[in-house]
Amino acid sequence: MKIIMLGAPGAGKGTQAKKIAEKYQIPHISTGDIFRANIKGGTELGMKAKTFMDQGMLVPDEITIGMLMDRIGQEDCINGYVLDGFPRTIPQAESLTKALAERGEKVDYAINVDVPDENIINRMSGRRACLGCGATYHITFNPPVKEGICDTCGQELVLRDDDKPETVKKRLDVYHQQTQPLIDYYKNAEVLAEVDGTQPMDAVFQDIVEILGE
Ligand code: ADP
Ligand code: AMP
Repeated sequence: MKIIMLGAPGAGKGTQAKKIAEKYQIPHISTGDIFRANIKGGTELGMKAKTFMDQGMLVPDEITIGMLMDRIGQEDCINGYVLDGFPRTIPQAESLTKALAERGEKVDYAINVDVPDENIINRMSGRRACLGCGATYHITFNPPVKEGICDTCGQELVLRDDDKPETVKKRLDVYHQQTQPLIDYYKNAEVLAEVDGTQPMDAVFQDIVEILGE
């Protein structure tokens, strides 16, 4: 099963993608997590990506597409995957469609997690991320057991640099300009499903399970 998560930054794509990965036993692939791991590791790719990410801009397609194609070519992707944060531009979507078509495959579901802009700033300013294992929390909606510490791996939680309100505004602009058109792209491909992302996390997940099947 090949699934794409669509939605604004902070809509809950990562939160739901992790649950999907666990239930359906497929890898969760987040391009944002891959970039952050590269930044942490001090790689050349990470250094290039950081300059764009810190400004709330998208990392150029030339860098992002190749990186994602390498990842989905790995052995653990043989039975599918859930993509979180890719594609974010029409050229990225077209590259994915083409690469899959060459193998006689296609995206099965594009799930749009719909959350209005008004809710996003609050979600992002309260998000806390673990740079160790990639877990995500929210200080109000999904707090860790011990404040500031990751439940899973015990590392310190941080407010991402790009989750500061001034950067979030820019990221929302970029989303509306470059990523929102993908909703129509996948509607035309007849694989779009929409869920109301303003509901509590478990209710959003229930709606997703109804779409994907038990
Ligand atoms: P995205 O991957 O789309 O950027 P995340 O999954 O990281 O978004 O969610 C953004 C923030 O909102 C996180 O702090 C997360 O814990 C919180 N969150 C996610 N889903 C919900 C929800 N349904 N209700 C309230 N808060 C949520
Ligand atoms: P995310 O963790 O999905 O919120 O992504 C964080 C940041 O990484 C984004 O704001 C972009 O700068 C960059 N990024 C992640 N995925 C992509 C992508 N598919 N295309 C371009 N940039 C991306």
